Amino acid sequence: MKKLSELIFNNTFSHLPAVFGTPIKPQPLDDPFLVSANPKVCELLELDPVQTSTEYFINLFTGNDQHSAMAPLAMKYTGHQFGQYNPELGDGRGLLLGEVLTSYGQKWDIHLKGSGLTPYSRQGDGRAVLRSSIREYLASAAMDGLGIKTTHALAVLSSNTPVFRETVERGATLIRVAESHLRFGHFEYLFYTQQHSELKLLADYLISNHFADIDSKADDATRYRQMFNTIVFLTAQLIADWQAVGFAHGVMNTDNMSVLGLTFDYGPYGFLDDYDPGFICNHSDYSGRYAFNQQPNIALWNLSALGYALTPLLEKDDIDHALESYQILLQQAYSKNMRNKLGLKEKREQDTPLFANLFDLMKKQAVDYTLFFRTLSSIPHAELKTSSHHFQPLFKNLAPLEVWLSLYADRLEKDSLSDTDRLALMRASNPKFILRNYLAQQAIEQAEKGDFTLVEQLLKVLQNPFDEHPGFATFAEQPPEWGKTLEISCSS
Ligand code: AMP
Ligand code: MG
Ligand code: MG
Repeated sequence: MKKLSELIFNNTFSHLPAVFGTPIKPQPLDDPFLVSANPKVCELLELDPVQTSTEYFINLFTGNDQHSAMAPLAMKYTGHQFGQYNPELGDGRGLLLGEVLTSYGQKWDIHLKGSGLTPYSRQGDGRAVLRSSIREYLASAAMDGLGIKTTHALAVLSSNTPVFRETVERGATLIRVAESHLRFGHFEYLFYTQQHSELKLLADYLISNHFADIDSKADDATRYRQMFNTIVFLTAQLIADWQAVGFAHGVMNTDNMSVLGLTFDYGPYGFLDDYDPGFICNHSDYSGRYAFNQQPNIALWNLSALGYALTPLLEKDDIDHALESYQILLQQAYSKNMRNKLGLKEKREQDTPLFANLFDLMKKQAVDYTLFFRTLSSIPHAELKTSSHHFQPLFKNLAPLEVWLSLYADRLEKDSLSDTDRLALMRASNPKFILRNYLAQQAIEQAEKGDFTLVEQLLKVLQNPFDEHPGFATFAEQPPEWGKTLEISCSS
């Protein structure tokens, strides 16, 4: 475990040509203080967690001190926002501070979000508020706990710097840690500005730093084809994980899509409470472009936009071929996830109605998605047909559920998994805890008053969401009515 000053940096991105970004220092926040730090993320960086409460840590990550080995840089990218190309994007309120190299050979980007103005700030103030920083902090930990690929958050820091949103809020920073901050939009930027040799350089950079399986000696056409195939694959896996757990991202613009298939840029995201396939978590998404059930299509749309940006490197047929594989990859991964959730080992064609009936039932009765599967994960096969009373709080009418439970019990008889193994698989596939919006909201309201207890408790529970955590049973309950209709917009 290292001290902060002892971290080894290897700032590969800052060695790329100047068109990739602008070197710039963070702007200081007033009277900074630590809100919370995540020891699990410290571990990734081999950083001693004690370091996070030092003055140096707090000053460094609020722009009040410097680290000699960091090379802060605002990255330039563009992207499609709600379907429209925007050439003006880039790190408008964040910086890539540097890249830590661990003794186990992993490179981690250290990104500071809320660090002040950059050349890409447009009309923005370059700042982040405590509210949105806590939302990203907790969601990153929750997704990681769920086993879903994501950027990580090392810590949230706050300050007395006023930041103006709908009201005056506290300026805060979030330290984001990720294998890479490369977005689809990085490639779009170089394509639309016709910097094709830099586009090639970026592809080479991505392959050599992140796609170790691609043979560096293969010819260009092969390497770039494999690169795009890999991105399509990783994206399909990610979306399958989101759909199975009930996560809505809210702003799937191409600048928020990671080329490593990480959940990236937490804004007005939401986890499903009641099952509602058309759920729109982003209050500013008037048309429902990024509704929960649109995410699979939107990811493909985004991949097509990336494919188009790669036309200087790839044959059209190769792009089309990769895009055609997306639906199949997604379906395979999603179906595996859903079979795990129902504890089914074997894949059977006849299972389609079993799933369809269940979704129909959950939708009609607005059943809590997470609680339904978790409840089902505790019922032995022999009791299933008479178990509907366990679901009493979730259903208005139990009769259709009883029909379904009976179908399910019959289906289990045809599966080779033992009942003990089925229940174990289900408890490891159906979380007890998700980051419900109202919980995040309560943690934020407490934190705004200077009490970080709930932030810490949620962090601990959400990092192991499949465990029982008997002391925190209330976090697993259905939300109160007010908690189902919180309005979260892009403003953060
Ligand atoms: P997002 O909707 O979070 O993906 O952000 C879209 C773009 O707006 C990115 O280029 C961000 O860097 C930029 N941005 C968001 N909030 C701010 C802000 N408060 N100040 C400056 N730029 C911002
Ligand atoms: Mg963004
Ligand atoms: Mg954002």
